Amino acid sequence: MRFFRKKKPVPDGVFMKCDGCSEMVYRKNVEERLWVCPECNYHFRITVNDRINMHLDEGSFKEIDAEITTNDPLNFVSGDAYSDKLKSDYEKTGLKEAIVCGEARIEGIEIVFASMDFRFRGGSMGCVVGEKLTRAAELAAEKAYPLVTVSSSGGARMQEGALSLMQMAKTCAALQKLNSLTIPYISVMTHPTTGGVTASWASMGDVILAEPKAMIGFAGRRVIEQTVKEELPEGFQTSEFLLQHGFLDKIVDRKDMKLTLASLIRYLQ
Ligand SMILES: [Zn+2]
Repeated sequence: MRFFRKKKPVPDGVFMKCDGCSEMVYRKNVEERLWVCPECNYHFRITVNDRINMHLDEGSFKEIDAEITTNDPLNFVSGDAYSDKLKSDYEKTGLKEAIVCGEARIEGIEIVFASMDFRFRGGSMGCVVGEKLTRAAELAAEKAYPLVTVSSSGGARMQEGALSLMQMAKTCAALQKLNSLTIPYISVMTHPTTGGVTASWASMGDVILAEPKAMIGFAGRRVIEQTVKEELPEGFQTSEFLLQHGFLDKIVDRKDMKLTLASLIRYLQ
């Protein structure tokens, strides 16, 4: 379910091109602003390590379930074998899967935190992502800690077929249990959050936040237009459009995310 264009990687250098406004901007300037464009406020995709550093108290993150990996249940081959693609993503990112979960603190508050990393298989959700997210929700329930997730996903992982789709029901069931215990769950959607992740746990938050100008949706524009035989409004899958239409509760700049999460958790607890 990947339907956005692949962007060419920006070479390391003094300048970089902004994907939002196409301006050449100082890399250092962008980095200092937590990978946000100084010209247009475009929020670049960042790694899970950046998320941990930016949103959590320093040194507080303790990872859980780090060793779970997929066993390629369908022995899927399309072009390159799925197992080779996994190996290549592991070598590129050092990650074993597209989500990292653990216990952490935000402004001193104990939480369970789960964040996706788009670099690993386009942040797609297969059995491992579903299982790890479910376990994170179960840990939050057991410890009575609020759950905070950060999504960035191309949707369900097609190389694991229907087993990927089953993760949608499984994660939602675990979150429903958390809900029945009145433990807060905050979902942060980042660019892009699409497909089966939008259609399951990312949309289940008691509060749903998003970064500015993120693309959030289920199917892509072309698929919807061809299905409903209508032209869709400009920007209909952006955070700003979705906030206007009640799908999101708030758009939060990256620099304000930590304090916003902390104050929401204090309010909800
Ligand atoms: Zn820009």
